Amino acid sequence: MDPRVLEAMMPYLTSHFGNPASSHIFGLIAREAVENARAQVAGIINADPGEIIFTSGATESNNLAIKGAADALRDKGNHIVTVNTEHKAVLDCMTRLESQGFHVTYLPVGKDGLIDPDALRAAITPQTILVSVMTANNEIGVIQPVSEIGAICRKHGIWFHSDAAQAVGKIPVDVVSMQTNLLSISAHKIYGPKGVGALYVQRRDPRIGILPQMDGGGHERGLRSGTLNAAGIVGPVAACEIAAAEMPEEAQRIAALRDRLRRAIQSRLDHTILNGSTERWLPGNLNLSFEGIEGEALLVGLSDIAVSSSSACTSSARQPSYVLKALGVSDELAYASVRFGIGRFNTPEEIDWAADKVVDVVRRLRELSGAAGK
Ligand SMILES: *Cc1c(COP(=O)(O)O)cnc(C)c1O
Repeated sequence: MDPRVLEAMMPYLTSHFGNPASSHIFGLIAREAVENARAQVAGIINADPGEIIFTSGATESNNLAIKGAADALRDKGNHIVTVNTEHKAVLDCMTRLESQGFHVTYLPVGKDGLIDPDALRAAITPQTILVSVMTANNEIGVIQPVSEIGAICRKHGIWFHSDAAQAVGKIPVDVVSMQTNLLSISAHKIYGPKGVGALYVQRRDPRIGILPQMDGGGHERGLRSGTLNAAGIVGPVAACEIAAAEMPEEAQRIAALRDRLRRAIQSRLDHTILNGSTERWLPGNLNLSFEGIEGEALLVGLSDIAVSSSSACTSSARQPSYVLKALGVSDELAYASVRFGIGRFNTPEEIDWAADKVVDVVRRLRELSGAAGK
């Protein structure tokens, strides 16, 4: 977490501990902070404050958006379109809805990780009620053509949800130009606290009347009951302020570090494949596959570096990344893949150290396995 975020949160854990839903003075202080946070979060995605619902993270936001839309539109149709490289928090919602009679089309992606908007056009039927396509992918960092998708959905009168957990704070996200009706955000992906997120729910033209998935006191316009986590919610404010002020400079700096890492590895190691589009790419992502080595041994060798071969949310399953497999990467190569995430606090020295380590480990493993090449 950015120390500036923690500093902003601290008073709301101690002296300003009021319940934002209470009307006494302590409640009012907390409420003012929450409403200020709502305006900040809205501002960073070009929404109105009244369109922001605070949640416990992007997982909950995705559940609320997708299940809430499906429940609301059940009488209108039962078909949903998504992409097979979505985060599990989207894919598992779809599985749940399939068990309740919905039909889901999973669009494939190309070798670059991007969907073909024509495939979306072709998938739409009169029964289609919702399209859910992530803004940026968490494993390979590719940025989907969301504005084009938004325009297609708008034309057909279909609701469009986008999981923007990886995009907000990293690249410009504008719900108006994207024409998204629902958009998920996570605080801990922008140097805020874990367990806090938001869902953008468009209020007019059109009004997106999703149904709540949590019953209770009717907080957050009735869409998300439960006492608000005021301190946690104040976190994203500071995080959003910092992101808005520093994003262009930071994106450039982080992309330069990423390119430095990529060059340092690929210039010294043959048979190293970059996964995903480099045209539409998050600044801090680098996903590489190393031919001729065994994935398990690679990750053991790199245990000093905080990297993984798939997403944190699925990596305990010890299966090759389904995202890489969707790009057409073989099982063997998907196991021998590493996702590097470069962020605000990384230094050039760390990048060089990590590159040396990767080169050293891959060379040694290739020697052991007798693989050709350098
Ligand atoms: C991290 C992430 C999530 C889950 O967010 P939480 O706030 O951890 O629940 C969902 N989607 C994407 C794309 C993510 O990167």
